[in-house]
Amino acid sequence: MEYCASTNHDERPPGTVIDMLVLHYTGMESANDAIKRLCDPQAKVSAHYLVHKDGRIIQLVGEERRAWHAGVAFWRGYTDINSRSIGVEIVNSGHEFGLKPFPEKQMASLETLVLDILKRHPIPKRNVVGHSDVAPRRKTDPGELFDWFRLYKCGIGIWPKNGMAKSMNDQQAGILLRDFGYEIDDLGKTLEAFQRRFRPIEINGKLDSETVQLLSGLQK
Ligand SMILES: [Zn+2]
Repeated sequence: MEYCASTNHDERPPGTVIDMLVLHYTGMESANDAIKRLCDPQAKVSAHYLVHKDGRIIQLVGEERRAWHAGVAFWRGYTDINSRSIGVEIVNSGHEFGLKPFPEKQMASLETLVLDILKRHPIPKRNVVGHSDVAPRRKTDPGELFDWFRLYKCGIGIWPKNGMAKSMNDQQAGILLRDFGYEIDDLGKTLEAFQRRFRPIEINGKLDSETVQLLSGLQK
C-alpha cells in the first residue's frame, strides 16, 4: 500500500460507527489527474483509497477520518453519508472520458481491499453501494461496466434472488426501492441506478418485466 496524504478530510462526529462503503470511479482522463484533484485543497474532495488499473492501491485518507466523496446523498434514511462511510475510488475514465472495462488486476485488488475493510468495520451487505446508488439523480459511477455480481460472489454486497412478481405499479416499486435504501424523488432516475447495478445491460429507467422481477427479488 502506498500513501499520498490528502488534506481534504475532517473529523467524524464523535461516536459514529462506520457502517457504509461507497464505490466510485475517478471519471478523469488519467489516474494522476484524479490523484491531483483528490489531494487539491481547492477541490475539497477526497476518498480513503484509490485503486489503480494495475491493482496498486493508494491510501489518501485514514479510515478514522471523514473523507469527502459522497456529496449530497441518501441511503436508508441517512444523508450524511461521508460521516459513516469509507470511500473507494477506482481508476476509470468514466462516462465523460470513455467508460472502460475494469481490468482483472484492478478488480482482484479491489476485492482484497474491500474484504479487509469489511473485517475492520460492521458494514452490513446492503450498505455496500455505488455512488449512483446514494445519489441517483446526480451520479452514474462506478457505472454499468462495474462487475457487482463478481463482488457479490466473493461475499461483498447483495444480489436480488429470483423474484416472482410479473408486474407492479410505480408506488409498489417505490416502496421496494425505498426499503432497500434508495431515495425515490425521481423514480425513473432511481430505477436507472438500480438497473445500472443489477441489470447493467439495459438501463431504461422503466418498470419492464425483468426489472420488476429483480425488484421483487430484493425483498427476500
Ligand atoms: Zn463518485
